[in-house]
Amino acid sequence: MDDLLIGSHVSMSAPNYYLGSVEEAVSYGSTTFMFYTGAPQNAFRSPLEKLMIKEGRALLKKHHFDESKIVVHAPYIINIANQLNKENYDMAKSVLLNEVKRTAGFGCEILVLHPGSHVNTGVENGVDSIVKALDWVLSQDGTKVKIALETMAGKGSEMGTSFEQMEEIISKSKYSKRIGICLDTCHISDNNYDVSDFDKILDNVEKTVGLKKLLVVHVNDSKNPIGAHKDRHENIGYGEIGFEALNAVVHNPRIKDVPKILETPYVDDKPPYKVEIEMLRAGEFKNWKDTNNVKENWKDTGEQLGSSFKQFGKTVLKSARTIVDKVDDHCNNDYDARSEEEKEKKDSNVFNDGTWRETGKDIGHAFASLGKSIGNTFTGKRNKK
Ligand code: FE
Ligand code: FE
Ligand code: ZN
Repeated sequence: MDDLLIGSHVSMSAPNYYLGSVEEAVSYGSTTFMFYTGAPQNAFRSPLEKLMIKEGRALLKKHHFDESKIVVHAPYIINIANQLNKENYDMAKSVLLNEVKRTAGFGCEILVLHPGSHVNTGVENGVDSIVKALDWVLSQDGTKVKIALETMAGKGSEMGTSFEQMEEIISKSKYSKRIGICLDTCHISDNNYDVSDFDKILDNVEKTVGLKKLLVVHVNDSKNPIGAHKDRHENIGYGEIGFEALNAVVHNPRIKDVPKILETPYVDDKPPYKVEIEMLRAGEFKNWKDTNNVKENWKDTGEQLGSSFKQFGKTVLKSARTIVDKVDDHCNNDYDARSEEEKEKKDSNVFNDGTWRETGKDIGHAFASLGKSIGNTFTGKRNKK
């Protein structure tokens, strides 16, 4: 297996659960990955016995994954950064405690946690609340799991917006040995750090929390320019950070042993990770969304072509009707005036025996339905909706 310690967020769902997660990671050509032990947005958690952990771990072994580098992400709803509501704060602490234990239950050692929002209680209060909650959890979990506080984009009153603040939290905890950080490239860019000078950022990390504390790197491009505080991830090379900068992050020798995890958005309901990991391995950007653009363009062309055919078919149908009607008129006008012989002759006339009327209609209908099916072939789903 190659050197690069890289992977992505993977899902975990019935019926194969953790085994499915590992299979998904393998299918992307990953050497590590990140997962949630349940839904990201709530605290409901299935018992570990149900989650095919043994089977998943066996597959990990087969593919030579280093379990100590696999990452668990805690649910978003945990907010330990304020104590405005004691009940919520206590709940957040116990959900976190449970999540730390579950992480160990998977054989994993790193749990990424959003530090939370101080909600107008101020940064100092935020730091204090986080430290107290972490100390409460880490004094009783009985595991060796490390909590990696994630750098955040700085929306609202989010904590974790600078390495100095991270350092303050870590140094104030009694369990600082078990606390580290997760650096998210999209989030730090949103916080005015220039990802294109990643060595300078690592110098900053070194001066504050220390490079040893950097446990995870989330590799995401950003939909927004530096300093935006928006937190909108973009596919690698399609955002404001760009491929060159993110490629340099992934290959930076100073974070060789740090798991690098993609959390870029799905495209057309499909995960982009296989191609993104390939690109980063090769160190070369490939405009893979092009095929989607081509499909998109053809859809439009098909739609135009289809409606032209439809229009043309309708015109043919209309002309056919007009011709047939005219011929009918003509024939009816002088029909009675003719001899039986002439009538017979006329009846055999193609214009009069209805053949052309039917033929004209058929041609018209054929064009109309050809137009319709061409249109449908190209537009596919869109028409069915
Ligand atoms: Fe996160
Ligand atoms: Fe992240
Ligand atoms: Zn984010």
